[in-house]
Amino acid sequence: MNDPGYHAGKRTGKPAPGLPVFVVQEHDARTHHFDFRLEHGGVLKSWAVPRGVPTTPGERRLAVETEDHSLEFAHFEGTIPEGEYGAGTVRIWDFGHFTEEAWENDRIEVVLEGKKLHGRYVFVRFKKAGENQWLLLKARDG
Ligand code: MN
Repeated sequence: MNDPGYHAGKRTGKPAPGLPVFVVQEHDARTHHFDFRLEHGGVLKSWAVPRGVPTTPGERRLAVETEDHSLEFAHFEGTIPEGEYGAGTVRIWDFGHFTEEAWENDRIEVVLEGKKLHGRYVFVRFKKAGENQWLLLKARDG
């Protein structure tokens, strides 16, 4: 777990009781990207999604698995100082809860209920691209 800067920032959002949370944080770091985080096993499993989370069914985006973060980080917005891990500005782009349909080593399927993101999303490990590489795709619902 690594969430430097947490205490320096403000907290926003409220967890939905009973269901795990997800958050997408827009991160204006050296390279602009979005951090997609899913609560699982007491931590936030995390991926950096350079081009943002797909919103059109069938659309897929590269997602690079990054370090687990503490659950509290789901509410973080603010600036992480230069020199610290994740230096740059973090803004919550979406927040909500989800149901877990599958959580396997190579495949994760969730149904999101956020302010912006809704419906079924699938992470599939993208072995050809290398370690920690995944594809995130929005599935066709129903
Ligand atoms: Mn990041």
